[in-house]
Amino acid sequence: EAMLALEGVSKTYNKGRENEVRVLDEAALQVRAGEMVALVAPSGAGKSTLLHIAGLLDTPDSGTVRIGGTDYTGLSDRRRTVARRQEVGFVYQFHHLLPEFTALENIVLPQLANGIARAEAQTRAADLLARVGIGARADHRPSAMSGGEQQRVAFCRALANAPRLLLADEPTGNLDPATSDQVFGALMTLVRETGLSALIATHNLDLAARMDRVVRLDQGQVVAG
Ligand code: ADP
Ligand code: ADP
Repeated sequence: EAMLALEGVSKTYNKGRENEVRVLDEAALQVRAGEMVALVAPSGAGKSTLLHIAGLLDTPDSGTVRIGGTDYTGLSDRRRTVARRQEVGFVYQFHHLLPEFTALENIVLPQLANGIARAEAQTRAADLLARVGIGARADHRPSAMSGGEQQRVAFCRALANAPRLLLADEPTGNLDPATSDQVFGALMTLVRETGLSALIATHNLDLAARMDRVVRLDQGQVVAG
């Protein structure tokens, strides 16, 4: 069974208007347990739309989305929100860390929101930071950290609630090439060590080549890269 399975997923924006755009057209994609898949496509091809639908942030016009074997099509917003918190971790191009909180606290907070006790959440946060090589930065606020460090914290936050699926949209897109390479290496290690499944959108073909498989978006469909 695939960890993520999209079948016949279609999405049109501005339906019926002159600026109607069919972004996804019967798209299908499977990501197996523990598999890291790169999603490569030019800007505007629909990567964010696909990731948002895969992560239950958005609903397709038609088609099914299954995560861990559960079909989320047609479930209430509430059930989808609960599932998203538990099953899916998101990373974006910009870290979106809370500026008034330390690195550790930024990883603790989503766990508290998920009902985890503070002590346990702190232990897990410290462990995650150590695993991406910035244990010593736990008490720093984002503004006191480099871009690469901030993004490592964002990876840890995405994994805070031990999701089974990681979705990332240009996770190292705002870093210089050398930093991007290192930070991506840290993400890969974390994904491999936790056995996560990951779908990672990137323009960087070198990074894409380091993953298990590459797919592209072409005319609204997912095709082999
Ligand atoms: P990518 O992430 O590959 O750049 P997006 O999924 O963000 O692509 O967008 C794909 C297309 O859909 C673009 O033409 C974009 O302008 C359009 N689009 C995205 N979101 C919306 C929206 N909420 N309303 C209308 N059009 C949208
Ligand atoms: P990304 O950099 O990830 O491709 P964008 O800047 O394209 O993101 O889009 C940011 C947000 O704006 C997304 O939630 C997307 O759905 C929305 N969006 C993108 N294009 C349009 C559009 N043409 N009309 C309305 N919303 C849009």
